[in-house]
Amino acid sequence: MTPSKIDFKEVTTEEAAGWLADAGEPPFRARQILAWIRHRGVDDFAAMTDLAKPLRQWLAEHATVTLLTVAHRSESVDGTVKFLFRLGDGHTVESVWIPEEDRATLCVSSQVGCKLDCGFCLTGAGGFVRNLTAGEIVDQVIQVKRTVPDGRITNLVFMGMGEPLDNYDAVVRALEAITDTASPLVGARKVTLSTCGLAPAIERLAVDFPKIKLAVSLNGTTDEQRAALMPVNRAFPLRRLLEALSKWPLPQGRRITFEYVLMAGVNDSDADAERLVRLTGQVPATINLIPFNECPGLPYHRPSRQQVERFRDIVYSHHRVVTIRESRGQDILAACGQLREQAEGA
Ligand code: SF4
Repeated sequence: MTPSKIDFKEVTTEEAAGWLADAGEPPFRARQILAWIRHRGVDDFAAMTDLAKPLRQWLAEHATVTLLTVAHRSESVDGTVKFLFRLGDGHTVESVWIPEEDRATLCVSSQVGCKLDCGFCLTGAGGFVRNLTAGEIVDQVIQVKRTVPDGRITNLVFMGMGEPLDNYDAVVRALEAITDTASPLVGARKVTLSTCGLAPAIERLAVDFPKIKLAVSLNGTTDEQRAALMPVNRAFPLRRLLEALSKWPLPQGRRITFEYVLMAGVNDSDADAERLVRLTGQVPATINLIPFNECPGLPYHRPSRQQVERFRDIVYSHHRVVTIRESRGQDILAACGQLREQAEGA
């Protein structure tokens, strides 16, 4: 029997073994093929030299391997590397690799553009084009792994272009392939999915894939303020969002991360800091304060260092876990959407 075509970039080892079994091949072939693709930098079945030639030919006819190409690569003085990947249909998405002493984090995209129109985001301003396939999400990890020193990706974050939970099925499928225990690209506990707060999808993910870490882009402390920055808040106001977060399973010692982009005169007052403490006190939480990364076309400004520290100190005075996170790679347009905008003249 000839099974229907699969894309080896978006399957788990178990799925690939099942597919190969239908074609009369032993299950261990799945490990061989995925080792070539995920860990040995080979996408072409013809080059998988530990497979018999007839099988290589058969695979070339009956299977596919999603392949992104690097349209642009830029490296910051701080070591951050930004990739602009070209998809099969010509659209582009961004991934950012951020090396630090004790980790190397890759930030991937989940959509071309985004529907959610957050006021402080260039990706949102550019509108929505389409969802990425699971293979296109997984291949960002594989392609970056092939080019960075020692293939070092210790952590993965879904914080690039797009709202991952608005592309739910493909993102979950990609998560399954990326964290595939038989041949992982990144371990599930090292993956963080960042959402702007699609409450029903958070509740669904809590059932389908609770192994990963969850981050929520908050950015406002009242419904009115948050809805002005993030239209999604009209559909899922803070109360509904917090209700969904209360259902997220948190093993001992784990926390939900709240990201809070600080914008001068918008959401950086002392009263905001106090409200942020109260809001995030309803679940075990880490608060990341991110001073706004100014860029042309967006009307917001970065608060002074003094104001950022004052905000942090107020939150900290309530014994909350809070850090200031500086944007990396500012010299290479590393904020979400900037490189694509420049490349496509969007
Ligand atoms: S911040 Fe995220 S969810 Fe909001 S518009 Fe940008 S990409 Fe979309």
